[in-house]
Amino acid sequence: MSGLYLHIPFCKQACSYCDFYFVTSQQYKQPFVDELIKEIRSRKDTRFAAEKVRTIYFGGGTPSLLSAGQVHQILEAISETFPLELEEVTFEMNPDDVTVDYLNDLKKTGINRASMGVQSTDPDLLNFMHRAHTSEEALQCLELLHLSKFEVFTVDLIYGNPGQTITSLERDLDIILGYNPQHVSAYSLTIEPRTRLGKQVELGRIVPPEDDTIATHYDVVEKTLRAAGILQYEVSNFARPGDEAIHNSNYWEHANYLGFGPGAHSFWWETSGRAGKRWSNEKKLRSYLNGSWNSPYAEELLELPALAEERLMLGLRTRKGISEDTLQEKYEVSFSPAQTEYLHRMEQQGKVITGNRIQLTTKGLKIADTILLDLLTI
Ligand code: SF4
Repeated sequence: MSGLYLHIPFCKQACSYCDFYFVTSQQYKQPFVDELIKEIRSRKDTRFAAEKVRTIYFGGGTPSLLSAGQVHQILEAISETFPLELEEVTFEMNPDDVTVDYLNDLKKTGINRASMGVQSTDPDLLNFMHRAHTSEEALQCLELLHLSKFEVFTVDLIYGNPGQTITSLERDLDIILGYNPQHVSAYSLTIEPRTRLGKQVELGRIVPPEDDTIATHYDVVEKTLRAAGILQYEVSNFARPGDEAIHNSNYWEHANYLGFGPGAHSFWWETSGRAGKRWSNEKKLRSYLNGSWNSPYAEELLELPALAEERLMLGLRTRKGISEDTLQEKYEVSFSPAQTEYLHRMEQQGKVITGNRIQLTTKGLKIADTILLDLLTI
């Protein structure tokens, strides 16, 4: 079973923190859809179309800048190219694009999971992040999603913003929970060097929050969502039991996936099962429209040791963790005595659970990156 990712590279304006690939001109939307369909169809009758597709994910950029008709065309090309056994079709959207009719039309195309980039409901923070939507649009959209027929909707939230107070974060969580989402993705704001925010920080115009402040925000998010029955299953992802995202879990478990669109990544195991290939398209709409997707822009072959390290890093960021059997059978690695000793030490501190599966506790997930770094460099 595999997954498909579609990168829709259009945005109304550049959010100050964002380093995803996007363009703000809307001029080439239909030519892009036509080219995307060509890229999808190019996989027909290849080994990539031999596995049943279980998940489809429309990400970006802003997929909700496409019309429901264009989404339908894309899904039709997919169904004519791949055998499908779909469990989840996710569509990212921004609050300022959503109307009742649009949601209804998307539902008819086969989308069953709506992902809403709310980020905050605080007007000052939305302004600071240079989001295209207003606080009112965020609330209106949450109301529409709450009343919609989507089986699952998920809300994206950002914490750790410079100037964000605990009160403001609590208010965001209260408002979001009022609409009863099944899933929440909460990300700590990352300051990327090539973004407007990164430049402002570099020039000393904005001071990022202290690590302690971010840790307190993380605690508030985790505790508030847990009290509402929305449980952490990965460092940044929370869901009601049974509503965890399948598509992202596939990435964490090294399932095969294909990415389409400019900048999209793909991963596929070699038939030997002893290596995997990762490749990506060039991040440039103009060359994409000229067919650059025909040859991979960047490609690397990952042997088992590199894949094992990656699987460990991804697996330990999830509540489910990773089993030692999987590491041995699929990746032919086991923990060294020093790593085992380290894990037991972390267990005594209440950060790790050992046994057949190695899992991080809530306390451990909070410092997952430190634990992983220690474990891989010990
Ligand atoms: S809408 Fe999303 S992809 Fe577009 S600039 Fe903002 S954060 Fe980035």
